[in-house]
Amino acid sequence: MKLNEFVSNDNVINMLSRSISSDTLPHAILIDGVKGTGKAALANILARACVCTGDNKPCDVCPSCKKALHDSHPDISISNGDNSGELSVDAIRRIRSDAYIMPNEAPNKVFLLLNCDKMLAPSQNAFLKVLEEPPANVFFILTVSSANMLLETVRSRSRIYSLNPPDKKEAFDYITSVYPEFSGEDISRAVNSSEGNIGKALELLNNGGEEAALLADEIMKALIFGKEYDLLRLNTRLTASRPFAYSVLDSLSELSAECVRASVGLPTASETAKKAISRLTKQKILKVNDSIQKAKNVLNTNVNLSFYGTWLSSVLKASLQESRS
Ligand SMILES: [Zn+2]
Repeated sequence: MKLNEFVSNDNVINMLSRSISSDTLPHAILIDGVKGTGKAALANILARACVCTGDNKPCDVCPSCKKALHDSHPDISISNGDNSGELSVDAIRRIRSDAYIMPNEAPNKVFLLLNCDKMLAPSQNAFLKVLEEPPANVFFILTVSSANMLLETVRSRSRIYSLNPPDKKEAFDYITSVYPEFSGEDISRAVNSSEGNIGKALELLNNGGEEAALLADEIMKALIFGKEYDLLRLNTRLTASRPFAYSVLDSLSELSAECVRASVGLPTASETAKKAISRLTKQKILKVNDSIQKAKNVLNTNVNLSFYGTWLSSVLKASLQESRS
């Protein structure tokens, strides 16, 4: 994918295009946006632009771009915060010393630090040392769901580019053109339940997880409105199959994380998260989120599925009651 093929977010894309053609791309780039907005895709396009030897960077056809597209360019290093240890202090120190070594073959060296949401302060501080005086031909490209999750000192030394989900029509048109194998009706349903978030919509379409996402949404609403009978009834549907239960808990966990983000004042497109913050206190939302994350872990322990739904209902109910006291 080239920069001009990126869906929506025209301001950010135009700004980056200009920086690339005038050779003024910032050395520390921070891309923020909720899951599914294309942060990693954009980070990869920028990384290719930094090593590209063709015109109209990234050209996606020169040997450098091709290597990058196959994840085998020696001057692009990728660390993913979702994999344990890849953004630890030691890992950051290795990145730091590597940054001072000349590129192998490209004009520049690129370090992609993806999913920095859980990057701890000591790692960020270790990273600061190289951000303060970055070597001339080195680019750092970070992705995070909200720039506020990083230290002010890291933010102030980076240029922040924020991605927003496209509107539903843009999302629909994009998925229809790139994935003709899905029916218009399925795409439209997925786009609606993901509020235009392309990554989430594709997840729903690919994993048949649409039903799971809808059930997760109903469970969360039953919880928000204190409908205990509905909660029990909905949760017994988890017994359908283990993969289905996993899918529902994944969606539920994302939804509750979205409620937590909304409860600390971050903008949200989720109607359910908006309902949550209007009905529940921040403490209650945090407790619910805590219970859901625990319940997800319990499911991973091969618990007996026929009891799980009932158990989950009581745990979720309890998370609201405790915080009332
Ligand atoms: Zn190229």
